Amino acid sequence: MYDYLIVGAGLYGSVFARCAADNGSKVLVIDKRSHTGGNCYTESIEGINVHKYGAHIFHTNDDEVWEFLNRYVRFNRYTNSPIANYKGELYSLPFNMYTFNRMWGVVTPDQARAKIEEQRKEAGITEPHNLEEQAISLVGRDIYEKLIKGYTMKQWGRPCNELPSSIIKRLPVRFTYDNNYFNALYQGIPMGGYSKLFEALLEGIDVKLDTDYKTFIKDNDGIAKHIVYTGALDEFFDYKLGHLNYRTVRFETEVLDTPNYQGNAVINYTDDETPYTRIIEHKFFEFGTQEKTVISREYSYEWKPGDEPFYPVNDDRNNGLYLKYKELADETGIIFGGRMADYKYYDMDVTVRNAIDKFREISCEHD
Ligand code: UDP
Repeated sequence: MYDYLIVGAGLYGSVFARCAADNGSKVLVIDKRSHTGGNCYTESIEGINVHKYGAHIFHTNDDEVWEFLNRYVRFNRYTNSPIANYKGELYSLPFNMYTFNRMWGVVTPDQARAKIEEQRKEAGITEPHNLEEQAISLVGRDIYEKLIKGYTMKQWGRPCNELPSSIIKRLPVRFTYDNNYFNALYQGIPMGGYSKLFEALLEGIDVKLDTDYKTFIKDNDGIAKHIVYTGALDEFFDYKLGHLNYRTVRFETEVLDTPNYQGNAVINYTDDETPYTRIIEHKFFEFGTQEKTVISREYSYEWKPGDEPFYPVNDDRNNGLYLKYKELADETGIIFGGRMADYKYYDMDVTVRNAIDKFREISCEHD
């Protein structure tokens, strides 16, 4: 008999499990995959920690979350500075003075602001209603056309005027010469890879891999006082209200016999002809000096049953359907959390924060 059965050994499940175990609870974590870490999982190939489900760069402004994770792993000083490649023209990201200078030849912040204002006025946007309008009013039409339109279309499979502006608000726009992708006090990659973090979080906790929840619970009904479920909500309810949309990603990973393929960890291909969205060169997340290198090209697709869901598509239809599933979920007595169960485009730090808070809330209720 366990206090908690936690379904999913990703970030939400593993942090919740650690909090519960530290509080004296008996915890069992199950996962259908054959490894822990969810989509943060890294695997060593040629001595390089490969982010098997896409690049994960940890960043946060949350002191407690940062201190919590640093108990289990040390972070290096990696700072994300992706580059956009538009048909061979290279631009700095996030959008900053280097980007504006390369695009328009402007040198001062005032010149850049004036250029953006001119393009925003030309487009006649006062109140942005979707991603396209939001992007043009933030950075102007030229940057939208070259660095946002094609990339976003490939990433989401939908035109920018059908997507919520919240997606683009994730990216900073800076009128300084600063290529740091994130506005965060703390940033880095776990030294030794994310898998090391998960080993530490789950140390001393019972973990059963290759275990599907539905099958397991049929044979083990009542195994725990509480269930924490971190998988997709529509799948949990056997899609009875219909499918939520997700984007999935296919990775084409190659080991190359060169120490340096592209000179940066992340290069985005922002035109609409290149079939992949970006190429990740994993060694640069940890300043690797190996003789070989490992790269992954990322191809984004609409999710279909049997695929791994990666990103929720938070448009009105899906958010509405999610709320209907949420009503069903609230009646089960099960605790749902994480990017998939909450159907929200969470960053890792928010996921950790939510797991810590949820455990506190539950343990207070039962004190
Ligand atoms: N984006 C873009 N061009 C870029 C990078 C990002 O248009 O070169 C847009 C795109 O819509 C993307 C969103 O910004 O989905 C968020 O990008 P982020 O890098 O946060 O995505 P993630 O790393 O989570 O896939």
